[in-house]
Amino acid sequence: MSQVQAPALGWDSRQRRWTAASTSDDWHPADIGGGELLIDPDTLDHFAESLGRRNHARPMAVYQPRTTQDVAALIRFCGRHGIRVAARGTQHSTGTQGLGADVHIDMRTMTAIHEVTDRSITADAGVTLRQLAETAWCHQRRLAGGTTGYTRLTSGGVLSVGGFSPGAWRDASLGEAALGAEVVIGTGEILDCGPTYNPWLWKVIRGGLGQFGIVTRIQWGLRPAPQLVTTRTRTFRDPTDLLTCARTLMHAGHDGVWARWQQPDQLELRVETHHHDDTADLPPLDGPPDSSLTLPYLDHVRLFDEHFYDPLIQRSWATWRKDWRDVLVDDTQIDGFLQAAFRAQRAHHFRSPGAIAILMPKSRRASTSALPLPAGDSERMWLVDWLLDDGGEDWDDMNAWAADLTVAARSVGAVAYHIGNITLKFDEHYRPAAPLIRELRDLVDPHALFGHGLWTETPSEPGSSTAGG
Ligand SMILES: Cc1cc2nc3c(=O)[nH]c(=O)nc-3n(C[C@H](O)[C@H](O)[C@H](O)COP(=O)(O)OP(=O)(O)OC[C@H]3O[C@@H](n4cnc5c(N)ncnc54)[C@H](O)[C@@H]3O)c2cc1C
Repeated sequence: MSQVQAPALGWDSRQRRWTAASTSDDWHPADIGGGELLIDPDTLDHFAESLGRRNHARPMAVYQPRTTQDVAALIRFCGRHGIRVAARGTQHSTGTQGLGADVHIDMRTMTAIHEVTDRSITADAGVTLRQLAETAWCHQRRLAGGTTGYTRLTSGGVLSVGGFSPGAWRDASLGEAALGAEVVIGTGEILDCGPTYNPWLWKVIRGGLGQFGIVTRIQWGLRPAPQLVTTRTRTFRDPTDLLTCARTLMHAGHDGVWARWQQPDQLELRVETHHHDDTADLPPLDGPPDSSLTLPYLDHVRLFDEHFYDPLIQRSWATWRKDWRDVLVDDTQIDGFLQAAFRAQRAHHFRSPGAIAILMPKSRRASTSALPLPAGDSERMWLVDWLLDDGGEDWDDMNAWAADLTVAARSVGAVAYHIGNITLKFDEHYRPAAPLIRELRDLVDPHALFGHGLWTETPSEPGSSTAGG
């Protein structure tokens, strides 16, 4: 059978759309490197949304690059014609992140792992954290900052939101565990950055939501991996009791400490111990555990993928509407905030099988990225995520609870961690660093290609103007 050659695509600068070859002077052949440009309706519909299923913005095209040079060629072309661009990973942030651009770059086609040493792994930004962890494990290594709870997320997407790993209470964001990155900025130039070279770019691309360029390659730090991880849990009915116990266990140096809230009136503290053999003595907890589970390290990393999210995905969870809110709260405010959240909870808020809230202690001092930090100067801050899904008739009430908690968090100086539904304006989110961030954005993105659709123009929720910082 003879093959039909797809017609060459180009950009019609008068009609502002991608079309097949034309003789018009306004038509410019797509000089965009060796990647593939897709304009079919199914692909565009798929990219019109994110996992939150709440916001909708159809791009004009989706570009699938193979190399950094492909990305650079696309950006140069888009810069010449004023075509807005955004990178998309697995599209698992649940707000407008990545939406609002004319062309989406589907980073999932950049999947090369370039180098693995004892100290680092260097890979394309489309490689998932799970693939990185599996590759590192073959060398008896683990990612220095750990992984996200769900690991089928692109490493570029995670670096671009900041990324927090449950349990890693000594660290700040996962971006702190990266050693350097390669970025295509808005002029089409390819820049390397890291703590000692282009440190200004290094600071803002970690947590920068793709506003400063497209991250194409990342070098992640590695550490020796434990053979086993034991997770012991304790259940609490009072948030202050849980927080007191968590602080004691961190003080005692336990490897991983975090909590989840999945049933009304009940918080589950999870304490992780890394060890090399089954006979190792586990450090004592501050009371008897309710459960204990020992797994090989890699099974521990995959635990939530396989036991929590995969069964939900089978039940078409990816298509459910989601109201996900995420805030960073100072250590001095977390007890009062959680007590108030506990008082306001209703059984139906957790009725959906996907509904869960997570509490992760984090180090403020370790933070070197541009991620906004909460008001206060405690060494410790807490990431609190409410990951609520469509509970049918309970949806409006659940949304109201999530919104009220967000307002309550802001009133005690919390800031948004921007992976969920961002209801802030740019200046509210980044202040007091907003002027500097705007200046850097203008420097690396002179044609204003990046970051469209991110910041709401609608009135903020009440209380947002009291954000700390
Ligand atoms: C089940 C589940 C569990 C999660 N657990 C955690 C967790 O434990 N910790 C945590 O921190 N987060 C967690 N998240 C949130 C997740 O980290 C973010 O949604 C992140 O965006 C995931 O990467 P992605 O590939 O889906 O990025 P996308 O959602 O596709 O993109 C996110 C943002 O980054 C930009 N971007 C993506 N790739 C690039 C790139 N290569 N260069 C420049 N900009 C880029 C996009 O434009 C967008 O603004 C979880 C999400 C889900 C669905």
